[in-house]
Amino acid sequence: MHRIWMVDLAREQAPTLDHLYQYAATAQNAGYTALGLYLEHRFAYADTPWSQGKGVVTPAQIQSLQSEFPSLQIIPFINLLGHFEGFFNCEEGRIFREETFTGLQACPSCPEFVTLCQNIITETIATFKSEIIHIGGDETAQLGKCPRCAERMAGQAIDPNKPDEKAWLYQDHFTPLINQVIAAGRRPAMWGDMFLQHPTALENLPKQTLIFDWHYVNGVKESAPKFNGFEVIACPTTAVYNAAWMHLNRTEHNVRECAKDAHELNLAGFCLTTWEQVMLNPYDSIFPAVEWAARIAINPTSPESLPEAFGEAEQWARNLGIELEEMGGVWAASGHRHKLKTRLLLMGNPFLAWLHHRDEIQGERAKQLLLLIEKSIHYAPNEACKNVSFGLRAMIEALIMMNEAHVHYAKGEADAAIGKLAPMRYLFETLARLAKENNERIGGSLADIQRCNIAKAHIETVITRIRKYGNRELGYLPAFEVLTNPRFTPHDQSCWWLVNKWANE
Ligand SMILES: [Zn+2]
Repeated sequence: MHRIWMVDLAREQAPTLDHLYQYAATAQNAGYTALGLYLEHRFAYADTPWSQGKGVVTPAQIQSLQSEFPSLQIIPFINLLGHFEGFFNCEEGRIFREETFTGLQACPSCPEFVTLCQNIITETIATFKSEIIHIGGDETAQLGKCPRCAERMAGQAIDPNKPDEKAWLYQDHFTPLINQVIAAGRRPAMWGDMFLQHPTALENLPKQTLIFDWHYVNGVKESAPKFNGFEVIACPTTAVYNAAWMHLNRTEHNVRECAKDAHELNLAGFCLTTWEQVMLNPYDSIFPAVEWAARIAINPTSPESLPEAFGEAEQWARNLGIELEEMGGVWAASGHRHKLKTRLLLMGNPFLAWLHHRDEIQGERAKQLLLLIEKSIHYAPNEACKNVSFGLRAMIEALIMMNEAHVHYAKGEADAAIGKLAPMRYLFETLARLAKENNERIGGSLADIQRCNIAKAHIETVITRIRKYGNRELGYLPAFEVLTNPRFTPHDQSCWWLVNKWANE
């Protein structure tokens, strides 16, 4: 049975060879049979010199990894339709996108894109020695959106009794790519989600295709049997994207269920996916969970709990992985990327976090939150854990400062408001330093450092605005969320920049 750990390098991870060795050693020592590298645009393809951002994984690194860890399969996860945004948001890649400023999908009717997919497979096979070549295919939500695709798929059906034009378009794109992998003597693999949405796309699909059936709640009992005639890998995840750090209970349940189903249904394997270790959440802080999941993949009923698996970091893991979730609100699991972190770090305007999450720091709540974070700092046994805790403390403190600044601003006390925002710059300097440490220690996101710098620069802009307009110099006092918006324009009292949403597309 395959036991795979998939590392997501596409969220701007910038690993050195040493970092890649750390990943491989962790996988091998834990008992995985393979390390999956989820790449997207983060590989130095000779065919796309224009897409090689700083810190991309290189063929030489992969060769070194393969010779240093000969018994570990290093599986490339390339993505050849959905999640192509890292390519098409480059100038040379613009022609590949399905729509402008929306979605993550390339256009399967763009001949240059189809050629690029073939070239990417050729280069991948030349570098990676693994039996399995994973060509992606997940989350292609924009099938048929562009006029070229709409025209091609009109009236097409794989099964005339169950007409599904999107299934036809999807299969029409992927079948030649699957056959290219087979012709090279390798095993093609794809994500299962689009086949579950468009079941006829499985008809006539080459049966050698290995299906990675990912479900991040419960297991694959219901879904795996739907891939009748295909071999299936059960894929759970670490519940990270919607967490301040990681939701331990959800992770434990999901991993156990998938492992159990893999055994009971006699599936081809188990693949732990670990996505989005960004926004001050370094990969090495979850290594104990990765190691534990390998043991559960072998023995799903093992009594060893996930918090226990953290060893000397168990108390820290319970603080941030269980007790913090119990605080509810923005700390509870949701279907979204963690909203507080997203608003503080991704949108170029940390004041959006104040606008939407002020309730987090009302009354006793802020004290309880800070107490919990302080406790986690006390228990953090290493730098990875400490950095997660320090980052969360700075985020909560930033929220408190923005709120206090607003209270003064609303009362017309401009100087006092500035007095509250000035130290907030220091918090984002701290966050930038933590992001840099995460980059140096484990190859963390380079964009994280810039996100913190951008937030800090915006705080400086807001301070200048309060100095200029905080005493009603315009004749009116702009609402705090207006003044702190990057598009704030003095004298535009009615905010015309908000009225014409279409103009910003
Ligand atoms: Zn198209």
